[in-house]
Amino acid sequence: MTTLPLSTPESQQKARIGAALLEWYQHHQRALPWRQAADPYAVWISEVMLQQTQVSTVIPYFQRWLRALPTVRALALSEEQEVLQLWEGLGYYSRARNLRRTAQAIVREHDGVLPRSVEQLRRLPGIGPYTAGAIASIAYQADEPLVDGNVIRVLTRLFAVPGDPTTTATSRELWKLAGECLVKGRARDFNQALMELGALVCTKGKPHCLECPVRGDCSAFAQGEQARFPEVRKRAAITPLSHAALWVTSRGRLLVAQLPANAPRWAGLWRLPTLEHPASEAPHVAGARLLETLLGPGGDLTLATTVQHSVTRYRVTLNVFRVTSRSGKWALAKDAGLGWRTFAQVAELPMPAAHRKVALTLLPKS
Ligand code: SF4
Repeated sequence: MTTLPLSTPESQQKARIGAALLEWYQHHQRALPWRQAADPYAVWISEVMLQQTQVSTVIPYFQRWLRALPTVRALALSEEQEVLQLWEGLGYYSRARNLRRTAQAIVREHDGVLPRSVEQLRRLPGIGPYTAGAIASIAYQADEPLVDGNVIRVLTRLFAVPGDPTTTATSRELWKLAGECLVKGRARDFNQALMELGALVCTKGKPHCLECPVRGDCSAFAQGEQARFPEVRKRAAITPLSHAALWVTSRGRLLVAQLPANAPRWAGLWRLPTLEHPASEAPHVAGARLLETLLGPGGDLTLATTVQHSVTRYRVTLNVFRVTSRSGKWALAKDAGLGWRTFAQVAELPMPAAHRKVALTLLPKS
């Protein structure tokens, strides 16, 4: 005889939440390009792009990527520079490099097809619990939960979950709740509904509780404590950084430098020759120091532009100096990754966003 699970008020509440979310999702889901077909490859690429990045930013990147690299095999056979260029502007470039490496592993070990189980997916490089849950549930309809930033916000509010969600104990609790609320056989829609609710209704700051389909079961709403959850740790303070860069052109070419493969940021990308310098050092002094090191004596500097940009917890001030040579010749330092590229080639190089912005401002308009 089969024993039916005991129906408790908690399990009934979770069942109500699941049903209400599915009903709401049917009418309110956004038409997003990766939702058009449950292609495991497209799901994987979109989920990795969406980490730390807004949907509206991701859409054109996703479409361009799928046109250039439509399959796991195409990605596995691509050049790293192509992948970095397709990713340019999305930041966290290790994600792009990992995608390519993972595609090669999928071709090698799984005949080019993303595996179906969370356990196998987790064994692939660069696939964490969230991405594995997303691929298994959204692409393969496996009954697997997932927890991302949106889900954290919804679940901590619904169940008034205290504690920092980045700690192991609270994270475990959230994964358990996500699994208990999941409607079996409907994981694809349920997981997307939970994330969609976090993106559209249970938003950061002031959630739109009066439009929320699960308001009747929400502890934070009942207590008027929506702003308390999630109890996130305070972010690390922003650290200012000063960068001086050189704008050197010669016969229709621009001097650029490739960051080495072991660089902590932007490995493999190209940028203007750049020096990080202490805030106490005047930017033009740092620029002159960089010029002397890379190109030797005999150049003059004038400030061309200043760009402010943020990278993780850093706020970078980038001063770019236009350099002219008194002799008309340069002796490039060896082993500095320097190279001349035509203006047309510069457009094809993968570059960090701030350097691309400078290039777009300073390159002659054709
Ligand atoms: Fe979020 Fe408000 Fe809905 Fe609760 S009622 S889940 S706080 S939007």
